[in-house]
Amino acid sequence: MTREEILAMAPGPELNKLVAERIMGECYHEYWKDGEDSVYCRKCGESRFYHQQSQAYSMEIEAAWRVAQMLGLAVVPLNNGDWMVCKANVIYSLRITDDHCQDHRLVICHTAPEALCKAGLITRLVKEARG
Ligand SMILES: [Zn+2]
Repeated sequence: MTREEILAMAPGPELNKLVAERIMGECYHEYWKDGEDSVYCRKCGESRFYHQQSQAYSMEIEAAWRVAQMLGLAVVPLNNGDWMVCKANVIYSLRITDDHCQDHRLVICHTAPEALCKAGLITRLVKEARG
């Protein structure tokens, strides 16, 4: 995935799933029936069938806050009502006069959970690309 593809996503189940798997290390089980009674996840092998607890990372701040803690992200409210998220150390090099919407280190969205999820995924993608 590219930065542009991540930024184009809407908050919702697809974004939640990406965050759960790529950042939080959770398995979104895909159960397969194997014979009469045996059911298992084809991704992690989990055989105990239970209801997937889906965290609304891109919609609820309680869930999104875990993403911020795990990746060391800073959350800044902007005076137009939007939210800006970046790696915490980026804060120190920002200048008040710059056009922050053009800064590739920053993610700006209407809600903090959405911005946290997208900044988190971009952080992870950059790390993975570096190896
Ligand atoms: Zn699984």
